[in-house]
Amino acid sequence: MKATEHYQYCPYCSHKLGPYRDFHRTCTNCHASWFENLAAATGMALLNAKHQVLLTRRAIEPSQGTYSLPGGFINPGESAEKAALREIEEETGLTDLDLLDYIGSFPDQYGVEGSHTLSLVFVGRLRSGEPHPDDDVEALEWHDVMNIPPEALADSFPNVREALVALQHWYENGGRDRLSG
Ligand SMILES: [Zn+2]
Repeated sequence: MKATEHYQYCPYCSHKLGPYRDFHRTCTNCHASWFENLAAATGMALLNAKHQVLLTRRAIEPSQGTYSLPGGFINPGESAEKAALREIEEETGLTDLDLLDYIGSFPDQYGVEGSHTLSLVFVGRLRSGEPHPDDDVEALEWHDVMNIPPEALADSFPNVREALVALQHWYENGGRDRLSG
């Protein structure tokens, strides 16, 4: 059940909304519509000179041990590229890196409402610096691109699993050479 499905009355004119279909409800009186919009997010597969990818790992319950990529929601008016760079700085302190490529968009659902998200995932190449987690909730770990922990590929959120598979595909199909170039 999504938030928009719960809406019964128009916030503008208080009349009853029509049925939920095609991801929206329309007011029976003033015809304003409320859409179940998705939230845009970014992820960054940051690689170092040893061709290791930086994964975050949740250090406390709930979901202790769950792997993810650094990233987060895109702010209104912000590009996905800027959001990816902002989030990696906030979460790891790293700023000296190149945005190398875009590897795809990965739909998912998030939170108790099951809100729809779409994560745009980039590959970055670290030039210098050591990552430091911004708090003690998330630990940071480097893992060989082609030797990602099985639990990261099995137990993380679907958008993370799919992004990691896409990263390995990217690496084996020209990405390895671009990292070295
Ligand atoms: Zn209305």
